[in-house]
Amino acid sequence: MAILANISLEEYQEPNLSTTYNGDHYYGQHGSQILFVKTRFSFSSMIPFFAEELGNINVLRATIASESRCDVAELLQVKDSVLVLENDIVADLGSINIFVSTQKFVVAQPNNSSPTNKDELVPWEIKLSLLKPPTPLRSQQNDVKEWWTSKQLLKQPLERQLQCRHCGHKFYGSSIEYKIKDLPSEHWYELVECWICHETKPEEHQARMKPILARPHVLLVGTTYFLIHPDNIMKGSFQADSVILKRSNWDRGTLSKWIAVNCSKCQSPIGEGQYCMEDDEIKLQAVKLFKYCIDLLPNPSERPIFTDFLVSDLVNTAKIHATHRFLVQGRQSQRIYALIWLFNWDTNIVHNNGYIEDSNHSLLRERVMKVIYLDCSATSVESDQHVKNNVTLWSIDKSTDHLIYPDVHCQQLVDTLNQSTLILPPFMRRINHPAMLFTKGFSIGFIRRSD
Ligand SMILES: [Zn+2]
Repeated sequence: MAILANISLEEYQEPNLSTTYNGDHYYGQHGSQILFVKTRFSFSSMIPFFAEELGNINVLRATIASESRCDVAELLQVKDSVLVLENDIVADLGSINIFVSTQKFVVAQPNNSSPTNKDELVPWEIKLSLLKPPTPLRSQQNDVKEWWTSKQLLKQPLERQLQCRHCGHKFYGSSIEYKIKDLPSEHWYELVECWICHETKPEEHQARMKPILARPHVLLVGTTYFLIHPDNIMKGSFQADSVILKRSNWDRGTLSKWIAVNCSKCQSPIGEGQYCMEDDEIKLQAVKLFKYCIDLLPNPSERPIFTDFLVSDLVNTAKIHATHRFLVQGRQSQRIYALIWLFNWDTNIVHNNGYIEDSNHSLLRERVMKVIYLDCSATSVESDQHVKNNVTLWSIDKSTDHLIYPDVHCQQLVDTLNQSTLILPPFMRRINHPAMLFTKGFSIGFIRRSD
């Protein structure tokens, strides 16, 4: 609400109608007669609004929906970055720091929308020129934010604890003194190996490239997890996931294996343990606690959630592997939950949740990743074949990366994506363009970036 105080009186001069804004309310007047009073955030008739800031061409591409009798091309007005349709304020863009030109704007009906009956709302597309580019420019934003880095941890008091985010069960005591160190990027090995290939004696380097092991009294900080030595994690505070443990074949593959571990109190997933088989007994060598599964005490100012780490996984993998396609798979069930095509990893959208009923419809500007996705968790007979075909197609494709997370977080991701699709007008939610065969029937969704 702080923005309100900064805005001076604005007036809209229209034939026979004037709209006045006094800092709190809009007054629509006909001569001396007041026709309507509206607060900035609650309008009697809300017009669904969705827009995307196209930073590289400085355009705001918006869509609104109006009753079929209303000719938006004729009636829409833009003044002081406020879109007004007849007596209704569609979107006060200035309130979310977007300023558009009043001169040039294009209003047209999208040709791929076809309302079926006349009571249905009719979509209109509006293109507006942005007066200033969205800052910072997308192309300059390459790095994703790192959450809970060693630098931040070192600023905390020494009495530090790591506990289960779900039930508060403690994993890591504060009684011991330990060092805090950053781990190199997850893709460090690949990068080094890539350079080694071009050298004359690669074996010399490879011999030195031992995996980084957990060390006692050292808290190693990775991008999405903490790596801890078994001596420093509270005994009995977690256990290996029995389903995954049963599936592990110790006669094959590497000597040590990463197996999912759960909180021993609430059984929520918390990370992975590195186990090896020694004299027919499995022995723990290290524990990774996923940052999105735990809480850090005392509470740091930020409490990142799963999607924050997903964003960093998507961006970092896309950068290293030059891929934009991902299969999201559950660690325990091994099910594919979603196919995700990274479309634009840094863009701004503006919307009023106009197509979602349970919402206060205030105008929001959000920094998001735009993705094209296929929800593979739904189990209708009709969608099954479509899902199966696409999963097979993506699984054999070498440029597609697998991202594996605890099942509970995969399901949450699918729910979040489905919810984000509802921000869009119905005709924009699904891909049905004949030129986009590879993603036919996929949905458009957004992953919020809080970094
Ligand atoms: Zn727990």
